[in-house]
Amino acid sequence: MKWVTEKLITKWDIRMLDMAFRVARWSKDPKKKVGSILASPDFRMLSWGYNGLPKEVKDDPIILNDVAEKNKRIIHAEINAINNCPRIPRGWTMYNTKPPCFDCALSIARNQVSKVFIPDIDVGSKWENTQRAGIKHLNDGGIEVLYFEGLLHLAHLAALKGEPWPWS
Ligand SMILES: [Zn+2]
Repeated sequence: MKWVTEKLITKWDIRMLDMAFRVARWSKDPKKKVGSILASPDFRMLSWGYNGLPKEVKDDPIILNDVAEKNKRIIHAEINAINNCPRIPRGWTMYNTKPPCFDCALSIARNQVSKVFIPDIDVGSKWENTQRAGIKHLNDGGIEVLYFEGLLHLAHLAALKGEPWPWS
């Protein structure tokens, strides 16, 4: 487990995380809004995603409020970021507002993403096990995983980098 420190994060990483939290707010999921940004090493190419029903499926409140039905159908932010990406994001960095589940970790590794920024796992939630398995899969694949403890931690790192953190 590698906590992100001032040394391990750049002002551009802060900007990408800020963007991930903005994108998360676009999700129509009434319970959990997740954002993901993929950035090329020079930050000139970006892709983004949030959790949501497939584009072709209407954002039906009946589906979105039925947890079992929603979880069957919703596409996770990380998968949307990968699918929206105009090229295979080999060597790119992913910035997430939630740790990836195992299925997302499979796609992240398969697409040869190099580094992933995530908040700490949701201990005690039903997602904990799949997040742990996902992170293990990323580690096994040699992908660098950097944790931040939450928005306060990011705000602190942003201040150290002289970057504003508007969503804290
Ligand atoms: Zn997932």
